[in-house]
Amino acid sequence: MNGNMKAIVKHHRGPGAQLQEVPIPEISEDEVLIKVKATSICGTDVHIYNWDEWSASRVHPPYVFGHEFSGEVVEVGEIVSNYQPGDYVSAETHLICGHCPQCLVGQYHICENTKIIGVDTQGCFAEYVALPASNLWRNPADMPSDIASIQEPMGNAVHTVLNGEVAGMSVAVIGCGPIGLMAAGVAKAAGASQVLAIDLNPYRLELAKEMGATTIIHAGEQDPVDEARRLTNGHGVDVICEMSGHPVAMDQGFKMVTNGGRVSILSLPTQPVTLDVTNDIVFKGITVQGITGRKMYETWQQVSRLLHSGQVNVEPMITHHLSLAEFEKGFQLMNEGKCGKVVLHP
Ligand code: ZN
Repeated sequence: MNGNMKAIVKHHRGPGAQLQEVPIPEISEDEVLIKVKATSICGTDVHIYNWDEWSASRVHPPYVFGHEFSGEVVEVGEIVSNYQPGDYVSAETHLICGHCPQCLVGQYHICENTKIIGVDTQGCFAEYVALPASNLWRNPADMPSDIASIQEPMGNAVHTVLNGEVAGMSVAVIGCGPIGLMAAGVAKAAGASQVLAIDLNPYRLELAKEMGATTIIHAGEQDPVDEARRLTNGHGVDVICEMSGHPVAMDQGFKMVTNGGRVSILSLPTQPVTLDVTNDIVFKGITVQGITGRKMYETWQQVSRLLHSGQVNVEPMITHHLSLAEFEKGFQLMNEGKCGKVVLHP
């Protein structure tokens, strides 16, 4: 398709971004062109917008960023046979190699050559995005575009919570950003007996309650470890979903987990974290898991079913709808933590 489109461009190696007119991307034979209906702001996008150490070492401006979206296929490459113009899709954001040892055994989410859409390649904060057909996910026709756009981060929440037993267990979600909020909803839907939501931000703790948390713990006013032990008859929490990345909060998670419990870490601490391995991991006999991406495509199936059945209602945590041109306001809300999920509509 010829012509130009509006896009949010990470235009230089420094803070900020610009709304620019750029050419509509051309597709190769195995790609599709998608008209973006909704695109949501991820914490990763905030790192790139703010320009921290991680983004300075990883991304190469100028380029279009953003990776969470839903939209309509408008053009397909010559060898694409399973999608047609008019199809309603979202996409897995990990581009995998298909030939490394992990890919060869179907562990695509830990491909050693992973590239991420909108981080390592052109993204979807734009009117159109070009993507390999192999990464697309077909959406139910009646799924609203904003909800369809947040399936990728919800996949992170689902992968974290459901990577072990949950039914009948106590679950603590540490860090109530958008993924933590969704994790609370997933844990409740999966039959957790208690869902403790822990954060410093009262606005987000209230959202956690709406999402399904049975108890909220304000870490600035209460000791989360004492409180978690009190709520579990002194034994500690069965499953910890670590989504804060804060060294103190992470350590508290290992202190509040019960003997034989599970700590699943999705967060990305920016510095090495000190833990009491002897007392909090070894002698407790716990399982510690690193969680990256979404299982391709088992997690996507779980997300789609949980949303479509209504077992998880994400509407309370989609708090802001903005136009693409209002992106600066969106990033400001994210930086201030005065929002759940912010969705942009090109
Ligand atoms: Zn691979």
